[in-house]
Amino acid sequence: MSADYTAIREQVRKLCAQFAGAYWRALDRERAYPQDFVRALTEAGWLAALIPEEYGGSGQPLSAAAAMLEEIHHAGCNGAACHAQMYIMGTLLRHGSAEQKARYLPKIASGELRLQAFGVTEPSSGTDTTALTTSARREGNSYIINGQKIWTSRAEQSDLMLLLARTPPKEQAEKRTDGLSVFLIDMRAAKGAGITIKPIRTMMNHATTEVFFDNVRVPAAQLIGVEGEGFRYILSGMNAERILIAAECIGDAKWFIDKAVAYAKERVVFGRPIGQNQGVQFPLAQAYAKMRAAELVVERAASLFEAGAVSGAEANMAKLLAADASWEAANACVQTHGGFGFAEDYDVERKFRETRLYQVAPISTNLILSYLAEHVLGLPRSY
Ligand SMILES: Cc1cc2nc3c(=O)[nH]c(=O)nc-3n(C[C@H](O)[C@H](O)[C@H](O)COP(=O)(O)OP(=O)(O)OC[C@H]3O[C@@H](n4cnc5c(N)ncnc54)[C@H](O)[C@@H]3O)c2cc1C
Repeated sequence: MSADYTAIREQVRKLCAQFAGAYWRALDRERAYPQDFVRALTEAGWLAALIPEEYGGSGQPLSAAAAMLEEIHHAGCNGAACHAQMYIMGTLLRHGSAEQKARYLPKIASGELRLQAFGVTEPSSGTDTTALTTSARREGNSYIINGQKIWTSRAEQSDLMLLLARTPPKEQAEKRTDGLSVFLIDMRAAKGAGITIKPIRTMMNHATTEVFFDNVRVPAAQLIGVEGEGFRYILSGMNAERILIAAECIGDAKWFIDKAVAYAKERVVFGRPIGQNQGVQFPLAQAYAKMRAAELVVERAASLFEAGAVSGAEANMAKLLAADASWEAANACVQTHGGFGFAEDYDVERKFRETRLYQVAPISTNLILSYLAEHVLGLPRSY
């Protein structure tokens, strides 16, 4: 990030100070959605950061949004409850019609409409997105949608969902990536008319679900861009998602390191602070150095994104390195805390569970490594 966004960081920190560990612990126990936190971010306008001013947002660059999410995580909060409200609209902004943008973006910017559900992953296709089978069949002025999505996070807290579905059958497509289309589904209309949402309980508090589509009729006007081009549209949004989630991981790593350093200074065993032992210092120093290196790669990816020059490799490397940095810092933090690393009241075990996700989602480490091996190093495709 060329700018350091000091003012933004300070304001976000101030907001997050109202949502301390006890708030998150109580929600975590109940697996409840952080309504008040999300409302506060929405009212302060942070979730509309990337929406251009002409549509009511603040038209900030991606690196400003990254700074906000990093601060949220550095403060011990969890942006996963609402980060998608920031970036899912990017597909609509880049590929929607003027009418669609005028209709939806101002309401998304004000928070009146929540667009924070992204239906891509399916139970049988998994990471192999082009194998998805949820279908959208054209019938007059509508599409009829049938199929199932899994891990559709925040579906219960969204008014709109961005859905990737197959339009013509797979056999008719020339390339694997052809024939997928993107729809903006009005969940409010569809909930009683063919959409069923089932929450999935996970190891951390993450409002994720399975979504079933049973003959859901969607007006043809809800197709984004050109039918069959949807995979390309989704890919263009994934780079932003990866960079922003990487920034959250940097925030997590900073939280773990701060927390561990404070504890190492204060906890006295054998008559001296545990942080005086190199066996305690070195894992924290390692985690710090790796976090700082990952932070540079994330900043570089964000600048390239803003210049319209980011590649999948840069965005993927940012996500890979930042997720590894947060996971290493998480482990070092638990170890530094000894038994208290496992006690709920210290928040360490909660953050540990939360940051573990980023080894798997939104793309797993293995898939990033295969991407780099194939597309950067020129090795044969392995799958
Ligand atoms: C809490 C949570 C929230 C999520 N939110 C969303 C969401 O909002 N919207 C959405 O669409 N999806 C979401 N996801 C889905 C997420 O993107 C996927 O879980 C992730 O991409 C991995 O896909 P999978 O679970 O199907 O794993 P699989 O594809 O079944 O893979 C399982 C394991 O095998 C490895 N693997 C598979 N193929 C290969 C290969 N060729 N080479 C090497 N290793 C391989 C993977 O790396 C992984 O470790 C979410 C997932 C979770 C857990």
